[in-house]
Amino acid sequence: MDNKVLTSFEITQTQLDTAAKMLHLEPAIHAILRVPMRELHVSIPVRMDNGDVKVFEGFRVQYNNARGPCKGGIRFHPDETIDTIRALAAWMTWKCAAVDIPFGGSKGGVICNPKGMSSGELERLSRGYIDAIWEFIGPDRDIPAPDVYTNPQIMAWMMDEYSKLKGYHSPAVITGKPLALGGSAGRGDATARGGLYTIVEAARHLNIDLSAATVAVQGYGNAGANIAILANGILGSRIVAVSDSKGGIYNEHGLEPNKVLQRKMETGSVINYSEAENLSNEELLGLRVDILCPAALENIITQANASKIKAKMVAELANGPTTPEADEILYDAGVFIIPDFLCNAGGVTVSYFEWVQNMYNYYWEEEEVHQRLNKKMAKAFQDVLSESLERKVNMRVAAYIVAVTRVAEAMKLRGWV
Ligand code: NAD
Repeated sequence: MDNKVLTSFEITQTQLDTAAKMLHLEPAIHAILRVPMRELHVSIPVRMDNGDVKVFEGFRVQYNNARGPCKGGIRFHPDETIDTIRALAAWMTWKCAAVDIPFGGSKGGVICNPKGMSSGELERLSRGYIDAIWEFIGPDRDIPAPDVYTNPQIMAWMMDEYSKLKGYHSPAVITGKPLALGGSAGRGDATARGGLYTIVEAARHLNIDLSAATVAVQGYGNAGANIAILANGILGSRIVAVSDSKGGIYNEHGLEPNKVLQRKMETGSVINYSEAENLSNEELLGLRVDILCPAALENIITQANASKIKAKMVAELANGPTTPEADEILYDAGVFIIPDFLCNAGGVTVSYFEWVQNMYNYYWEEEEVHQRLNKKMAKAFQDVLSESLERKVNMRVAAYIVAVTRVAEAMKLRGWV
């Protein structure tokens, strides 16, 4: 393996191997958990607007269903690969187990460029994907959701197609639907809000006064903008820097997150904002702040820049922002990490609430969703923190230990090994 760059899926396997070793996991359980339970490769013919039929390649990977039906989003992306989908399906398995919701893990994807497709083409592709996989999904089998470049409208088309094939209305087959079709209140900012609840727990552990804390957020999209708005609005923390793919802005006295969002919507970026100075994404990472939130992409904090991080806490709203080498550097430097599949599990947790509400056809007020989310996230954080303190391992390894232990227990009880 020396000098070989690991693929995303190989990274998940390596992370699992570390936890398996510490847990003295039975070899048979470890072997089952290293690979997906099932994967489906499909070809989807779609009539394009110009009359031609184009065939798209799609996947659905069901990684493990020991704890319940599989759960995982669907990505529409030109660079999609089966390797990434496998990795994300594995992470979904650990994420659902870490927050203790009764789901296994899965992920789906279609290789396509949604930005270059018309609404009609996207609808036919969405329906075609469901036509190809519908016998393998279902409210008790595998429940998709939105992910990169898919959205509530696409979920609505997919739910409709599945319902037509079944012959009855079946909202619980998919989450992240529009509110009018059985979506849950509180789904919009659920990922950031869940992250916020873990930050509150971490701050209590680290003795950080959040009302006086400074925050830098990399990535000003769904996750990043919402964490800035919530941290400022609910906790009173000072958002000193935010960024997007074009660069960042800094104001030591604090930015107004809603005004920054407004500006991003008007101009396409946060940069060149009159009430702040520009800074680069790399400079943002090195700011002396209490909390750094990577909320953009994977592999942002690496061996090359980890030693420059001066934050007390890194709250990983993005998936995979920190490489394994950087992890060790940060741990040795005493930087506290809330690992991705714990920090950003609020989205899937409210997806679970959506499924529950669909199953009994009764809908909760937003306040109830927030309270239940808070309880789930706080408990998950404390479970992982206890494991980390007890075993003297970093929070990421601890999160794996918690998750893998739960999945392994379900497998044993079922008699799979
Ligand atoms: P998004 O597309 O809404 O926002 C992404 C933001 O990152 C944009 O502002 C973009 O300009 C910025 N960005 C892109 N490249 C960048 C770069 N090189 N440097 C700085 N900023 C850059 O996406 P999102 O839904 O907010 O997702 C962000 C991350 O959070 C992803 O890793 C995603 O997997 C993770 N996540 C999101 C959710 C969710 O519910 N939205 C749930 C779990 C995990």
